[in-house]
Amino acid sequence: MSKNKQFVRFDNVDKSYDGKILVVKGLDLDIEEGEFVTMLGPSGSGKTTCLMMLAGFETPTHGEIYLDNKVISNIPPHKRGIGMVFQNYALFPHMTVYENLAFPLRVRKIPKDEADKKVDKALSMVSLQGFEARMPMQLSGGQQQRVAVARSLVFDPKLVLMDEPLGALDKNLRESMQYEIKHIHESIGVTVVYVTHDQTEALTMSNRIAVFNDGKVQQLSSPDELYERPVNSFVAEFIGENNTFVGTVTDVSGNTCKVKLNSGAEILANPISVKAKGDKTTVSLRPERALINPKDKMDNNYKGKIKEVIYHGDHTRLRMDMLGNEQFILKIPNSSSNLEIKTGNDINVGWNANDSRALDPK
Ligand code: ADP
Ligand code: MG
Repeated sequence: MSKNKQFVRFDNVDKSYDGKILVVKGLDLDIEEGEFVTMLGPSGSGKTTCLMMLAGFETPTHGEIYLDNKVISNIPPHKRGIGMVFQNYALFPHMTVYENLAFPLRVRKIPKDEADKKVDKALSMVSLQGFEARMPMQLSGGQQQRVAVARSLVFDPKLVLMDEPLGALDKNLRESMQYEIKHIHESIGVTVVYVTHDQTEALTMSNRIAVFNDGKVQQLSSPDELYERPVNSFVAEFIGENNTFVGTVTDVSGNTCKVKLNSGAEILANPISVKAKGDKTTVSLRPERALINPKDKMDNNYKGKIKEVIYHGDHTRLRMDMLGNEQFILKIPNSSSNLEIKTGNDINVGWNANDSRALDPK
């Protein structure tokens, strides 16, 4: 059977808590069955509100939400069949691990022998067999969160919502849990809607990422697409590192435009959100797309002054003064021992027009 492309569907959803300000604005979002979609964005951008509406703890002010082609506005949260993990949605402290996991099954009136099998299976998914009799207090933070993940999956939901589930864990544990959750998703094929403000986490785990800002989805695409082809300045700034040049378009022809920078220089760029001469723009260029002393001729070639050299183990970062941007960042591999790389030196920098994206003015 083919997968439902609109397993979860937000259709023109608005949300206001106070009847005045919309914190979610005209949200249209389709999520395919089995997909791992992450809502990524700064604090206050409306991610949790969207998850709460999907879970049934909040109601849309306008628009509809569908789950498996059914409108869900009249279905209470516990009848939506959705598993949930939240940063602060703690385990029941007075129950053992076994009882925590058996709880959603008891609510659903699953017979005990079948429930025991499901608890077993869920605990093995998070590598916690043998922990059944422990109380939550006797577990580390990471183990508690793994029990919470197991509890969200124990009743075989078709959809699991996770809101910053790893936010309270330290960096190493967070990273290993990211892979653990990703692998569980891959092995059981459950649909996951995940919320985080951490771009690395989103890039690591997701099939697609919806970047939120100010209650709106700015871009919905795969991790590589989001990084390589941001559609606006917000996304370019929010995902990864980014060099910017501010200027005005002086010519557009085909897939190249000329941008006159405020510093006076003219660069060649890829016209993404500019149309015509006179348009204001912010040009975005990833640090690794700029090369020092390029052997071949590139569309853009300029001299810049090295302001700072920062050793980073696997690469070296240069902060440069380039075309009026004193925060121009460039990354070079450490294998290239180069005597010219010294603070105060002028070096040639080149990049192709296609890699500098002329976006909306900031
Ligand atoms: P995020 O999860 O992206 O940080 P939220 O969805 O929690 O964002 O919040 C979006 C906006 O809605 C914020 O301005 C927040 O202050 C507001 N908000 C969230 N929950 C409530 C609530 N229960 N009552 C009133 N305002 C809320
Ligand atoms: Mg939130």
